[in-house]
Amino acid sequence: MSEEKLTELNFDTPMLKQYQEIKKNYQDTILFFRLGDFYEMFLDDAKIASKELDLTLTGRGKEENRVPMCGIPYHAANNYIYRLTNKGYKVAICEQVEDPRLAKGLTKREVVKIITPGTVLEPSALDEKEHNFLLAFMPLKDQGFAGGFIDVTTGDFFSFTVQDQISLESQIDHINAKEILLPENYQTKFTKDVLVTYFDPLEIREAEKNLIKFFKAKSLSIYGLDDNEKSLPSLWAIINYLKTNQKNALAHITKITPVNTKSMFLDQVTRKNLELTESLYKKDRKGTLFWALDETKTAMGARNLKQLLKTPLLDLKEINHRLDALEELKANFTIREEIRAVLNKTPDFERMIARIVLEENNPRDLLSLKEALLNLKNIIPLLNKFNKSCLLQEFNAFFAEFEKPGSQYLALIDLIEKSIVENAPALIKDGNFIKESFSPELKELKESFQNIKEWLQTLEDRERARTNIKSLKVGYNKIFGYYIEIYKSHEKSAPENYIRKQTLVNAERYITPELKEKESVLLNGEEKQKQLEIKIFKDLLIEIKAYIVPIQHLAKIISHLDLFQALATVAQKYDYVRPEFVDSKEKVLAFKESRHPVLERNLNLHFIPNDLEMNAKENRFILITGPNMAGKSTLMRQIALSVIMAQIGSFVPASQAKLSLVDKLFTRIGALDNLYFGHSTYMVEMLETASILNNATEASLIILDEVGRGTSTFDGMSIACSISEYIHNAIKARTLFATHYHEITVLEKQLLGFSNFHMEIMENNGSLVFKYKFNRGQADKSYGVHVAEMAGLPKKVIDKAKVILAGFEEQGINYLQHNVRAEQLSLFG
Ligand code: ATP
Repeated sequence: MSEEKLTELNFDTPMLKQYQEIKKNYQDTILFFRLGDFYEMFLDDAKIASKELDLTLTGRGKEENRVPMCGIPYHAANNYIYRLTNKGYKVAICEQVEDPRLAKGLTKREVVKIITPGTVLEPSALDEKEHNFLLAFMPLKDQGFAGGFIDVTTGDFFSFTVQDQISLESQIDHINAKEILLPENYQTKFTKDVLVTYFDPLEIREAEKNLIKFFKAKSLSIYGLDDNEKSLPSLWAIINYLKTNQKNALAHITKITPVNTKSMFLDQVTRKNLELTESLYKKDRKGTLFWALDETKTAMGARNLKQLLKTPLLDLKEINHRLDALEELKANFTIREEIRAVLNKTPDFERMIARIVLEENNPRDLLSLKEALLNLKNIIPLLNKFNKSCLLQEFNAFFAEFEKPGSQYLALIDLIEKSIVENAPALIKDGNFIKESFSPELKELKESFQNIKEWLQTLEDRERARTNIKSLKVGYNKIFGYYIEIYKSHEKSAPENYIRKQTLVNAERYITPELKEKESVLLNGEEKQKQLEIKIFKDLLIEIKAYIVPIQHLAKIISHLDLFQALATVAQKYDYVRPEFVDSKEKVLAFKESRHPVLERNLNLHFIPNDLEMNAKENRFILITGPNMAGKSTLMRQIALSVIMAQIGSFVPASQAKLSLVDKLFTRIGALDNLYFGHSTYMVEMLETASILNNATEASLIILDEVGRGTSTFDGMSIACSISEYIHNAIKARTLFATHYHEITVLEKQLLGFSNFHMEIMENNGSLVFKYKFNRGQADKSYGVHVAEMAGLPKKVIDKAKVILAGFEEQGINYLQHNVRAEQLSLFG
């Protein structure tokens, strides 16, 4: 079509008018406009895309009307699309929705879907061990916030309400959404860059009505949303957004799950400080608790573990059941290894089923799903060997159903087996993927041109015999179709019915009227076959949709089995012990030979285990003194990590562990300034401390690594002392507080549950030897000057510091004022 030739582009052409008409409705996206084998971008979209994707920016039209443009081949589009969404852009895909050859005038075009950072489906663009969440929330009129979040790649859809800003921040941090929807007119700041889109919130009842329709449910009460009603407008905003963008049935979104608010409270700072899933400095997995525990074999199991680390459990029964399962799995090395081998071959079928129903174009995914289901049968005899843990018994009961003749799973295996050919292509447009035996219509159609295929197969031999040209060849190409080729030297022997079609350097290519006619029947038949297979496939998918819920259920079972075997494997490999939970009132926290789960893996380090014993009466507040580098932070972190491990139902790195449930875990470790932009280090310290003092309870665990360091010694010491007393007397939470304010150790005399501990060191010929031993009593001094010396400060600085320190120790805090006379002001003079 002449108006579509790129050389003639300017904005007066009908095609560019069409472009502008479409673009008008997709202002906030980069519009990929399909032109033949290319997607083209124009104007500002072209400028952005060329910069972000390193494409050459070209232009069309005369000087003043020059339209900036750039393009990419359509078959390579995915890679470009995901590079843009990763950078936070939305991409609208505008396709030719009719065959350009059949179009009268301008080919019709429509936006068929919009891909955004929170709605990406392509596996290569996703982290398989991480959920890809899209979040929506709203502030509530009275107090608090309500919202929901979805992982479109798995169909997991959650609702939540929170009471205050700090809980909201904790929730946002935990969700780690790739994209956020907010109500119009609501402005807020996020700690990292994320794409925000605004929505017009419906009334609760209106949203409820729409959601009921979407889920084809009688009422939403089946999802247990009663306390979460205020989240409905956000939940609807999410579904509505997906409907607009995907323009496809969202059949795999089958339920709403209220977020389990009954999990251990971990605020944003604590999750970061403890490096649960992301390391502080490099922001990667290495060195995190997730890294230390991730012996999972499936993406589903890994995602489960990661989520769980951010939301440890509070349900003691559930924790103990999980520990029972671990115990049994840990004790059976061989069976566990066999289970791991089966899981190792299990693909991410939770994401796979979502892709199958959303994209509707991939027969090969169906085959992988079938393989995965068949492979999982191997797990049944293995699980049957377990007979103690009630959770493992639940798995057994589930798989007994799985295996029963007539089960949904077997029916699905059978359906795929019957319909899809073994080596099906990845995309339906390539054809030849439906089994002939599955559709009599397809069989008949294929037979109708089968004889032509045979005729073509033997044509070469027949023509060679007829012409006596041994080198004669029959070939096919996309432009000319079937042809007969002979070398120029034989040109004269070409029979009369050969019609010359193409001349090459050494050869001539011909057709014959009969060949042309048969070719036309064949191509026509093959095209019909393609269309028919696509239709059969779409019908098949309607049937497959009935299996989504069972597949999602199976995926959850596998994610748990994988999680348990992973934790059991780690427990055995690194010699962890089962934690014992004792009565909550006793507030016990006791470890024998406790180790740090990450640091102990460092082969260059000989890790020294330590004991700790706290309870409601004794040692509920432990003040730890000791020089820098002595191991104070390490000890406190390993205790916090062990508590989290115990409450996700994992064994812990120690030879004995007893604890009463911890409801909230707080840490105040170095300042993470980026969290509260605009505040000074000391302000951050105080904000974090305020949040702890306002939220901790008697059942909490508080880890304080220095408080009051960012201000003058007296101010800091006063604050630290007062905070300690308040926690001990008023909050009564179990607390570990490391400090260099030795002065505070006097509180031990006055407060019953307050104890001084220290990290041991030895002085050897003036140099320090760290023993990393945690013992009762206070450290005699800080050795700050020694550590500075070890760090390589200039000798002159160290020598002078020693003189000043000795002065302070002899004459008290006013030593400098009394002794630095005018001529001594230059310290090194
Ligand atoms: P500061 O007061 O300067 O913050 P700290 O007392 O908190 O110091 P840590 O940061 O805990 O000291 O420990 C410093 C280093 O000592 C660790 O990085 C580790 O290499 C080593 N270390 C700590 N604890 C142990 C241990 N139990 N066994 C072996 N090495 C340890």
